[in-house]
Amino acid sequence: MGNIIDGKELSRKKREEIKQQAEDFSRRYGRPPGLAVVLVGNDPASAIYVRNKKAGCQQCGIRSFEYLLNENTTQEELLALIDRLNADNEVDGILVQLPLPSHLKDREVLLRIDPAKDVDGLHPYSMGRLLMGEPTLVPCTPRGIMYMLDEYGVDPKGKDAVIIGRSNIVGKPAALLLMMRHATITICHSRTQNLAGKVAAADIVVAAIGRTEFVRGDWIKDGAVVIDVGMNRTEAGLKGDVQFDEAKKRASLITPVPGGVGLMTITMLLDNTLIAARARVS
Ligand code: NAP
Repeated sequence: MGNIIDGKELSRKKREEIKQQAEDFSRRYGRPPGLAVVLVGNDPASAIYVRNKKAGCQQCGIRSFEYLLNENTTQEELLALIDRLNADNEVDGILVQLPLPSHLKDREVLLRIDPAKDVDGLHPYSMGRLLMGEPTLVPCTPRGIMYMLDEYGVDPKGKDAVIIGRSNIVGKPAALLLMMRHATITICHSRTQNLAGKVAAADIVVAAIGRTEFVRGDWIKDGAVVIDVGMNRTEAGLKGDVQFDEAKKRASLITPVPGGVGLMTITMLLDNTLIAARARVS
């Protein structure tokens, strides 16, 4: 595979570990770890994600509780479901698939999730603890990125890392995790000036923009590590945020799309469920 980070293989390996640990948990506590996934409405991309999460649970011996709610579900009904899941002892993790239909207030829903079951790591309590460097449930995609770097022997210490994107779900937590591992971070966004110049100086580039092949191959410094988080559906299939073929010629390591970060994200969700389950019984 040369310089291509094999997310498929890393994911397979990590899921094998999770399966063993989930079996140990089941033997010890008489029940498997449990993940509840809530989907409201009929968004086709969300439906695919939810199916993949369920398949991941089955593969790893995690019990999945699936709630496929009608598009017209009210805020009160959704909050009542979250309350029931918070109180359910067999449920260790709760994930509400975003985006919610526009009549629902996602912030209020996320706030309602018990932080002990916040396997997406998006509750302000989890985010605050992450910011303060305290143990917490960490958002899955940034955790997957760090796992990939570790497995490929990339130590962020002292490196210049450029993160493009400042979302709560990817950019901000990815930057924090890299900083905690002693990288010097630059967070870029839509108002950043001279993005190409900033990328050209980076030892590690994380692209989480949502624009097909926005990061040009010739921006990449020779030997840089490139993590492409983008998942853009195009007529030519799923494409990343980085111009892969060109960037690959310069990067020392690069993640493909598909077959890179996407698979690791679900794997880390399964791992977060296990972490939450263990914390709840300890
Ligand atoms: P988001 O919330 O839309 O954030 C996109 C970020 O990109 C924003 O911070 C935005 O800047 C920045 N941006 C937009 N245009 C830019 C430009 N021209 N120059 C520089 N920065 C620009 O997206 P997200 O949820 O973080 O997701 C980003 C991508 O990752 C999407 O393709 C998504 O599908 C993918 N994703 C993949 C996974 C996975 O598992 N692989 C998980 C989550 C997301 P402003 O803040 O200034 O608007």
